[in-house]
Amino acid sequence: MPQKSYLLRCGKMFDGIKEELQEKMEILIRGNRIVEVGKSLKTSPETEIIDLTEATVTPGLIDAHVHFQHFDWRKRTEETLYGSPSWKAMAFLYNAKKSLQRGFTTVRHTGSATFDAYGGISAKKLIDAGYFEGSRLVVLPYYHASVGSHGDDSQLLASNPPLSKAFYEMFPCQGSGVDFFRDSVREQVKYGADFIKIMATGGFSTPNDSPDDQQLSDEEMLAIIETAHQLNKKVTAHVYGADLMKKLIEMGIDCMEHGAMINEEVAELMEERGVYLVPTFCPYDEIIRLDEENLAKKSPEFQAKLRQYEKRLKAGRETIVNSKIKLGYGSDFVAVHNPYDGAYEYSSWLLSGMDPFRALKAATSVNAEILGREDIGTIEPGKLADIAGWKKDLLNDHEALLECDFVMKDGDIYPTEKVE
Ligand SMILES: [Zn+2]
Repeated sequence: MPQKSYLLRCGKMFDGIKEELQEKMEILIRGNRIVEVGKSLKTSPETEIIDLTEATVTPGLIDAHVHFQHFDWRKRTEETLYGSPSWKAMAFLYNAKKSLQRGFTTVRHTGSATFDAYGGISAKKLIDAGYFEGSRLVVLPYYHASVGSHGDDSQLLASNPPLSKAFYEMFPCQGSGVDFFRDSVREQVKYGADFIKIMATGGFSTPNDSPDDQQLSDEEMLAIIETAHQLNKKVTAHVYGADLMKKLIEMGIDCMEHGAMINEEVAELMEERGVYLVPTFCPYDEIIRLDEENLAKKSPEFQAKLRQYEKRLKAGRETIVNSKIKLGYGSDFVAVHNPYDGAYEYSSWLLSGMDPFRALKAATSVNAEILGREDIGTIEPGKLADIAGWKKDLLNDHEALLECDFVMKDGDIYPTEKVE
């Protein structure tokens, strides 16, 4: 059977690299690859023409920070404690289908602490093999965390120490000591981790820790980074404060998540060293652009911490927007939005004063670099045929990504669904 072939006629096209919307471009696809990009391309009789002349076409988007183990953010605690490993693995398949329908053809699952997280690896393989429709998954099963830390979900049971301790001990990447973490990195790689993540500081959404805490020792963090690099895996970290970010940069980290309380000195250091930042703006937006209605939907601890850190969060946001750091696009939805509704992050970037092309590059070519995937993220001959189409004005409408009009992954066309 001859390979399927499509010609996409684009109204406007962002190729993932050039900061412009090129007019009247065409993309020729054969099998699962882009073979030619240009104007008035020659086609063969079996080529199917797809009319996207009313749309702006981009590479299939990439969300570099999702947590796909939950079906419903409102039931996060309940699902964490009472959902079985297979329940959570099925959430991956559900979320991956929804995110694909919204134009996100690839997502990077940034880990979990407390369930049989290897279900994420199975979901990735099953989607790749074509058993289920969904975004391409790049998966970290477990992140590395210490006892009582932001990464330790057993703190949800802290009022019952014996039960909490039993829960804590079930999971392979929570512990202490250099030898423990060297082994646990190797174990993650053994079971299929695409990258490694350190829970370096506390967080906002958990009850018993603070974003200023350093939750692993310097020696432990260095051991994790070194071991991952020895195995040719990239390392990222959940981190907020400037001092710890600086320490991680000196240790040779590849990327950091959040960085919401960064300062200018660290921003410059990141630019100099080429360290990536996935700033995940949305989860802190309710305090940055005060939104009492959405703030009230978060847990009391989450709300209190956002209020407590308001000033530093605002200063950090400004520093990130004004920097030249290589920014990746990640939504990190564990509250207020569903894990697959990555489009809201675009709104947050634009309302924060970010250049739309910087946001679009973050969600395409820069994220492809962060994921170490040279075969996606741009519209160029030889790349995988991952394409999205949008009817709304991407440069001026901050909600433009809420409505995907066309999506193709690996050369196959899928149905789209609006973000509610
Ligand atoms: Zn996260």
